Amino acid sequence: MQFRDLKTQRVALKSELDEAIIRVIERGDYINGKEVGQLERVLEKYTGGAHCIACANGTDALIIALMTLGVGAGDGVFIPDFTFAATAEAVLLVGATPIFVDIDESFNMCPASLQREIDHTKGEGKLRASCVIPVDLFGLPADYGRILPIAQRENLFVIEDGAQGFGASVGAKRTPSFGDISTTSFFPAKPLGCYGDGGAMFTDDDNLAEVMRSICAHGKGVDKYDNVRLGMNSRLDTLQAAILLVKFSAYERELEMVAKVADRYADALADKNVRLPVIPVGNKSCFAQYCVLFETQGLRQAAMERLKQRGIPCTVYYKPLSEQHIFRGYSANTPRAHDYSGRILALPMGPYMSEGDVLEVANAL
Ligand SMILES: *Cc1c(COP(=O)(O)O)cnc(C)c1O
Repeated sequence: MQFRDLKTQRVALKSELDEAIIRVIERGDYINGKEVGQLERVLEKYTGGAHCIACANGTDALIIALMTLGVGAGDGVFIPDFTFAATAEAVLLVGATPIFVDIDESFNMCPASLQREIDHTKGEGKLRASCVIPVDLFGLPADYGRILPIAQRENLFVIEDGAQGFGASVGAKRTPSFGDISTTSFFPAKPLGCYGDGGAMFTDDDNLAEVMRSICAHGKGVDKYDNVRLGMNSRLDTLQAAILLVKFSAYERELEMVAKVADRYADALADKNVRLPVIPVGNKSCFAQYCVLFETQGLRQAAMERLKQRGIPCTVYYKPLSEQHIFRGYSANTPRAHDYSGRILALPMGPYMSEGDVLEVANAL
């Protein structure tokens, strides 16, 4: 059994993918070919955002978003303590300071903890409270209903890290679309993945979009060789865009398929001693991961050993960032992140996972 089965998808879409790849190679416009713009327009329509700007990966997308909003030295950026390292890395790379926020039962940023950290930062007076980066962890939208009003009241920029959340939704609104700038990743194992690295940024603001496009291309101005700001080289290859256009054509169906796998898991695990993912009413997860919570770390350890014996892959996401060497020393009052980190387990997941595989995992548990 695979942790995330990319092979079955490859077989299902093989002829379309091969044709799309060959077309680009024969044409030879490897950079800035027409598929890049086509993909951006398609994703704008899908997320409802006015602008989509493709870039090289999801980490660059976060860095470019922070640069575009002018976040840097002296700025405190609120991020969940329970996320992939890239979220914090981007903050440090632009010279700003991460402030770790605790999570709630859904594994996403806890709004009450965010408010506490904002109050604490303001009280201390050392850093400007400037930006919050909620993460759509494991495919579930963050609690925007409560986080956005806090950000508005406290005058914080919002960057949505939707690297794991492409195509999830709150009511009729799809992610990533909740931030001043929202980002995603097309890393192969993400819900919408390409065959290499890729990422994108979304915004409704024309000016922010223009600055992001410029930063992606070395800070170019109207004249390509008169650079007006510090930028970088962050592009999505034409090949990856062509692959993504084909994969996107199957994506809605895959979201339905993965939701069905989640339902099967919920049935099969109902009588097991694990807590299932919490999906608030009105939200749809795109299930980048399927994570369950054990009552104790010992029970998780025993389960991991049983899964391993049967050749079933599983992974622990995440070790809290504040426990990781490079991020120690930044403010972190995050007891739940530490607690959950010891008891959580990610099980095999994906749209192409068979009913038999779900039952096999459940039996092993
Ligand atoms: C994967 C991921 C990123 C980074 O994306 P890359 O394309 O790998 O650079 C950022 N944030 C989160 C939450 C991620 O899961």
